[in-house]
Order: sequence, then structure tokens, then C-alpha cells
Amino acid sequence: MLPEFDFLRPTTLTEALAMLAEHGPDAVPVAGGTNVIVDLRHRKHQPKALVDMGRVAELRGIRRDDGHIVVGAGTTISELLTHPLIAEHASILHDAARVFANPLIRNRATVGGNLADASPAADTAPPLLALGAEVALASQAGTRWLALADFLVGVRKTLRRPDELLTAVRWSPPPAPQSWGERPSPQSWGARGAQASSPQSLRVRGAYTKIGLRKADAISVLSAAVVVTQDGAGRCQRVAIALGAVAPRPFRATEAEILLTGQPLTAEAIAEAARLAAAAIRPISDIRGEADYRRRVTEVIVRRLLAQAAMPRRTAIETAG
Ligand SMILES: Cc1cc2nc3c(=O)[nH]c(=O)nc-3n(C[C@H](O)[C@H](O)[C@H](O)COP(=O)(O)OP(=O)(O)OC[C@H]3O[C@@H](n4cnc5c(N)ncnc54)[C@H](O)[C@@H]3O)c2cc1C
Repeated sequence: MLPEFDFLRPTTLTEALAMLAEHGPDAVPVAGGTNVIVDLRHRKHQPKALVDMGRVAELRGIRRDDGHIVVGAGTTISELLTHPLIAEHASILHDAARVFANPLIRNRATVGGNLADASPAADTAPPLLALGAEVALASQAGTRWLALADFLVGVRKTLRRPDELLTAVRWSPPPAPQSWGERPSPQSWGARGAQASSPQSLRVRGAYTKIGLRKADAISVLSAAVVVTQDGAGRCQRVAIALGAVAPRPFRATEAEILLTGQPLTAEAIAEAARLAAAAIRPISDIRGEADYRRRVTEVIVRRLLAQAAMPRRTAIETAG
């Protein structure tokens, strides 16, 4: 049995924000409901009202906007699988969507719900962190953008205030081959301590993996995403290594990233970066795996993903022609 609550059904973002402002922490937003309903059944929430986001058109859709790829918070995981912008600019997110839950859940579960729920094992978080994504939080006072890495603060804890809705997630796509000649790569894809290089010679590659207890419909024991931008000489200009289900929140392994920046992806550098990434995790032992297992597997998976990124062939996210 579910507890009793008012079920509010706004049709616009303005209406939804007014309802949240009025009810404050007594109201819980609900998108696909795949977490909320489970939590209600287990009495983790006892809200006076659920504010259903399902009819709010402003939260839907995937588009290009001002140099960013923007994904509406109400976009379902299934929609990530079919949209050409995701296939072209964020194959690691596409890969994560492919192994997310099962088709029924994917048809209901939203990207916004996955991030706002802030599970350590949220599967869209590592690829979005690796892409350098930001989230939009809207309230009646306006919209603020926060780095996803800052938004996620702990186990099911975020910086969202009760009167705010997560409306979208965005990132600057890696430079596309056809635009390399015309515009420099966005700053987030540029060098961090690395030598400048002509945009034409940049090569961006990414890779994603999820370890579960079975091949489908499994919560992650560990998930990892990497994106590596290399210059023409093979030196790393930007490295992003994001990990899920191995710490209180999905996070970037920054020490490992710094080690590789400015360096070629040699076997030794990759092995050292993987060791640093494994040293940065704070895993727990639970029904899905022991902390020690997660430590060992993190090192192996990060090594494999970086090696995959170093290989001279197209991978999921590669944009070089
Ligand atoms: C059988 C099953 C399998 C699952 N498998 C996976 C899996 O493989 N990988 C994975 O990552 N997760 C999995 N989940 C968890 C869940 O499906 C996802 O986290 C999903 O993305 C949540 O999205 P939702 O739209 O259903 O969120 P909801 O349940 O509607 O909401 C989740 C949380 O986000 C808040 N919220 C929702 N939308 C907004 C918004 N726009 N602004 C602010 N707050 C908001 C809600 O208040 C709530 O706190 C699974 C769940 C089930 C039941």
C-alpha cells in the first residue's frame, strides 16, 4: 500500500515551479517514478504531494543550443538510445543507456530522475561526468547551472533546493571533424597544462563499461567512463575518468587525469593512472560486491578503457573522420 498524497499534475514549467514553491519540502517531484514509487512503498518518503513532471513539455527533448548538446531532464533513457545527437556526440552515454535496467524501465526512467536521485550507482552519471556536463536547476527565482560534479554531493544527496527542479543537462561536445577547421575546440576540451595543438590534429576517443551481476537488468557493481583528447603527437590534452558505484557519489578520478595530461598514453602511464584511480575510490561491501573486489576491478577496468582509448581505431565516441 502507498501512503496517501495529493497528486499534482502541472502542464508547464511555470506551474510546476509554483507548486514546488508553495509546498516546499512537503512536495516531491516525480518523473518516471521508477525510484519514487519504490521509495514510497518502503516509506522512505511520506510527502504530502507528488508533483508529476510527465506533462511538462519544456523538460523533454534533446537539442543543440549555443555550442552545447542539451538533454531535457524529462528525456527517457530509451530516447537516449535513438537520438542522433547522442549517437554522434556522446556514444559513452548511449552505451550506458544500452545497459541500463531493462526496456520497460528505460521507457519510463528519465535522465533528470537518475541524476536527481543521486544514487552512487546512477548509470548516466559517469558518462556525463566524463563529458564535463552541467545541470540546470530552475526555481521561481531563475535558473542556475552547476557542474554535475558539484551537484552530486553524497549518497542520494544533491545541491537541489526543495523549490528547484532539474530541467536539463548540457555539455560541450568534443570537436567534430567538420568543424575543426572553423572553430577552436571548446575550452573544456582544450589543454590543461599540455602544449597547444592545432584543432585539426585533435583526436577524441571515449569508452564506457558497466559491471553487473548479470548482463541485463542489473544495478552497477562498478561503472566507468573515459574520454581522452590527444594531439597529433599522441599527447593527452584532456583526460576524463569517471567512476560510479565505488564511492558515495559518482566522481572524476582527478589525480589519474592530471598524471596523464600532457603525456602520451604509454602502457606505463596507463598502468599508473589506473592505480591512482583505484586508490581514489571509497567502495563499500554490499550484496553486489566486496569493497576489495571493487578496488581490484576498478584498476583493471580503468586500465582497459584507457588502453581502448589509446588504440588507433574508432571507438564509440571517436569523432575523427
Ligand atoms: C527494476 C529497476 C531497475 C533499475 N535499474 C537501474 C539501472 O540499471 N541503472 C540505474 O542507474 N538506475 C536503475 N534504476 C533506478 C531508476 O530507474 C533510475 O534512477 C531512473 O533514472 C530514475 O528516473 P525516474 O524518472 O524514474 O525518477 P523518479 O523515480 O521519478 O525520481 C527519482 C528522484 O529524482 C527526483 N526527480 C525526478 N525528476 C526530477 C526533476 N526534474 N527535478 C528534480 N528532481 C527530480 C524525484 O523527486 C526523486 O527523488 C532501476 C530501478 C528499477 C525499479
